[in-house]
Amino acid sequence: MGIHRISRRASPAMRALYPGSFDPLTNGHLDLIERASALFGEVIVAVLSNPSKQPAFSVEERIGQIAASTRHLNGIEVISFDGLTVNCAVTHQADLILRGLRAMSDFEYELQIAHTNRSLADQLETVFLATSARHSFLSSSVVKEVARFGGSIDHMVPTEVAKDLIRLFNSAFPPHRHE
Ligand code: ADP
Repeated sequence: MGIHRISRRASPAMRALYPGSFDPLTNGHLDLIERASALFGEVIVAVLSNPSKQPAFSVEERIGQIAASTRHLNGIEVISFDGLTVNCAVTHQADLILRGLRAMSDFEYELQIAHTNRSLADQLETVFLATSARHSFLSSSVVKEVARFGGSIDHMVPTEVAKDLIRLFNSAFPPHRHE
């Protein structure tokens, strides 16, 4: 008796809420969204609108970048939120909160937030996905730093984001003209 056919399991169709600043979205974030979409079926990417931070991109710009970069995926919704993540998760009927772990340095902070969220809404699980090794050095701030000084960012962010970063830093720091 051999193996005749391996049938695909039906998608579990859970709804994950992936909150973050995404200022801007990197290939690390995108990789996490792609993998979460395959695992859970539905992913709501929730862009934090934090008035106390001075972002490089407005919430609307960040939503546009994420929507354009996830066009190839089904079941993705992009929203903005402020206030508590758990309130956003409950309002949008999410089954779980998704976060990424790059290194041990992320762990302590993320664990504290996960415990805090669980204490506020104990039906909500936080699920961590380990970053792909090739994206583990990426953060939004590193990408902005490289772009600011004219380094290549093509391997770090989706095309739509690269264009916006180049535009942003060219207008902030126009190339020096030689007379
Ligand atoms: P926050 O300000 O909430 O940390 P970020 O946009 O920096 O927002 O990150 C959102 C989530 O994405 C966090 O869970 C973070 O650990 C994860 N993340 C950040 N960079 C990467 C990466 N390179 N690969 C995978 N996940 C990442």
